[in-house]
Amino acid sequence: MTTEPVPTAEGACPLCGVAVAVEARRCPACGWSLAGVDGRPGPFSVRALWWTGAGFLAVYLITLAIVALTH
Ligand SMILES: [Zn+2]
Repeated sequence: MTTEPVPTAEGACPLCGVAVAVEARRCPACGWSLAGVDGRPGPFSVRALWWTGAGFLAVYLITLAIVALTH
């Protein structure tokens, strides 16, 4: 027995089991986020992860350039 919510049948909230609309992003009964459930887009898309990585890389390169220019 686990307390971690697991994906259930399509259209059902994994937390409380209430039937929810397929296009709903949150359970109307308990407010549980349904991101990543039943084919819905997850909270973190691959594109968002790439942009986050690109942002860190840009900050790193800018810092590297500043350090290189000031030495
Ligand atoms: Zn629910």
